[in-house]
Amino acid sequence: MTAFGPIMEPFTQLRPGIRRLVAPNPSMMTGPGTNTYLFGNEEVAVLDPGPVIESHLETIREIAGAPIRWVLVTHTHPDHSPAAADLARATGAELLGMPAPEGQHQDMTFVPDRIMEDGDRLETSEFVIEAIHTPGHASNHVCYRHEASDWLFTGDHVIDGSTVVIDPPDGNMKQYIESLRRVRNLECKALAPGHGEIIHDPERAIDWIVDHRLEREAKVDAALTANPGLTTRELVPYVYKDVDKKLYGWAERSLLAHLIKLEEDATAVRGDGLWFAN
Ligand SMILES: [Zn+2]
Repeated sequence: MTAFGPIMEPFTQLRPGIRRLVAPNPSMMTGPGTNTYLFGNEEVAVLDPGPVIESHLETIREIAGAPIRWVLVTHTHPDHSPAAADLARATGAELLGMPAPEGQHQDMTFVPDRIMEDGDRLETSEFVIEAIHTPGHASNHVCYRHEASDWLFTGDHVIDGSTVVIDPPDGNMKQYIESLRRVRNLECKALAPGHGEIIHDPERAIDWIVDHRLEREAKVDAALTANPGLTTRELVPYVYKDVDKKLYGWAERSLLAHLIKLEEDATAVRGDGLWFAN
């Protein structure tokens, strides 16, 4: 070790005018941490500043090297948006995104100055970013398409190397799969997720996720037919044989998301908390 310590690159230059920092919040749910992206060199937009971590906020401001004018968020889960309000307050930046819905695990401190509806654009002298509303993981989830690169910034809609939790009622499996198909049809060049590395083959990645979800759905359907009249919790071991029992809490949330989809598709019905094939 030298007196100066190791030289650490605090950010990755992904393309001209697009930089990525990783927030220091690694965990089972966030992988290496939340990706924060910076767009622009002369005036900067920050996407998903992450949870409130002073050192991360300092790094964002330091490497921006120019005024931060806009702070965008993909959705209002605690690992993506809570630092947005602080960053906007400190820099005078405009907050953009969809407001937080009521409910658990929502960052109510995020109050957008400009609501980004589907198709809305942030146009600056250096770049254009278009909002693509992608409900499913969260009802207010927005992906952002950077026009010049044709990259899509996917937040938790598509992440690298893992599947995301669909936690009802704000999470909705039917909408999630529809939003995945919609993103696939955009035929973007790459996906820049909220966790993990750039995905260079969007179609393949999305097909894998959809197949995986539909495979699980088929298991749910078969379990319902074979074991009518069970609660969601009782159904977990029939559907998640491959999953560690320690994760059954999450599995139950995910199973409920599948069951609600089957109910919406009219292939399952429930009464008094018990599920039946329809
Ligand atoms: Zn999330």
